[in-house]
Amino acid sequence: MSFWQKEIGIALLLFLAALVAGSLTGHVLLFVFLVMLGLWISQLFQISRFERWVSTGGRGKYPKATGIWEDIYYHVYRIKKNEKKRKKKLSKMIDQFRKSTEALPDAAVVLGAHDEIEWTNKAAREVLGLQQTDKGQRIPNLIRFPEFIRYLKSGHYDEAVMLPAPVDHSITLAVRIVKYGAGLRLLLAQDVTQLKKMERMRKDFVANVSHELRTPLTVLKGYLETMQDMDDGNSPLLTHSVQQMQGQTERMQHLVDDLLLLTRLETQQKKVQCVDIPALLNQICKESDALEIAAGRIELSLETDAHIVGEEQELRSAFTNLLGNALKYSSDDSKVKIRWHRSEDALMLDVEDQGEGIAAAEIPRITERFYRVEVKRSKKVNGTGLGLAIVKHVLMRHDAKLDIVSELGKGSRFSCCFPATRLCS
Ligand code: ADP
Repeated sequence: MSFWQKEIGIALLLFLAALVAGSLTGHVLLFVFLVMLGLWISQLFQISRFERWVSTGGRGKYPKATGIWEDIYYHVYRIKKNEKKRKKKLSKMIDQFRKSTEALPDAAVVLGAHDEIEWTNKAAREVLGLQQTDKGQRIPNLIRFPEFIRYLKSGHYDEAVMLPAPVDHSITLAVRIVKYGAGLRLLLAQDVTQLKKMERMRKDFVANVSHELRTPLTVLKGYLETMQDMDDGNSPLLTHSVQQMQGQTERMQHLVDDLLLLTRLETQQKKVQCVDIPALLNQICKESDALEIAAGRIELSLETDAHIVGEEQELRSAFTNLLGNALKYSSDDSKVKIRWHRSEDALMLDVEDQGEGIAAAEIPRITERFYRVEVKRSKKVNGTGLGLAIVKHVLMRHDAKLDIVSELGKGSRFSCCFPATRLCS
């Protein structure tokens, strides 16, 4: 029998007794009233005892009770016990998390909804110069680099921002913010000084080697031209050898030029101006049309006369590379369409060919330096594998992106999408 049934049973028995006693004495109502009063007082007593126990936090074992009250005490006691166990487990976990984040080599700062510091780890205090007492302070008041404040305000945290460490400007930090929870953000700062140094060494090395190769190449080219002039055609071997050497030096010249251009793109400051894109495209197409490979194949469609803010020489290189590829990687009688047009929020240059196309798996890789797709072709196609890397860099410097749509055997479309904010006419 459950406690409830037992409790109801007792109450019914008491009522029955009251009824019997009442009928015997002729005071039924009085007896029933007395039973109800008794039951009420006893419940009131139990409730007040329960309230006292709960109000003191339900500490210790519960008071002795009988019937349904024993059941209630037992359940509350069990809930409290489980709660205590859970709390203990949770605080142990939080403790472990704190210890591990405290030991992290990267700086970590928890920011509140108003950029106030909620928590910092040891590395954050060391490298960002924050103190334990800075809790509650707004971080832009403590880290005052304008690029950091811009990054913090922007709300776009996909990429990291590079900053000198506030405590030592020779240290470079890659600072990144990660959003989590309701309005909370985690700021992470990693020391990338060594990486930056290696990157600079790589750039310097490529720039120096490319630069140093220019002089010997010019000398070689000069001698080869002289040899060609002197060749009277009596020795086919000599004629062939000179031609081969000229082809290879030309290839090397392209490689060196492309590497130097890439280095310039990586290191030089941008010189921006308002570039007349229709005029530039007209010029590029005219120059290309004069080449044997392109004669009569290019269709230029200028749907807008929009000019954009940019660097003309860089844009010329990028567009020439895209057009050159479209011509190179398609048959000599197919058309190549160039379209300069405007959408709602972008200015687009599409270069479309009906050539060999690119396999979907290769598309993410073709903008990597020196990456060339291995395809068996009827004709040999020369290239350095640097053209699209140059295009990607130039577009990056113009806040633009490259979209590639391609189907094997059908053709490709390379679209340069410039944000409408670049419009200057
Ligand atoms: P390169 O043309 O000098 O090899 P790029 O960086 O310009 O180097 O191109 C990388 C690779 O991408 C090329 O080797 C080629 O396989 C592929 N590719 C580029 N443009 C096209 C195109 N329009 N159609 C088909 N394949 C292309």
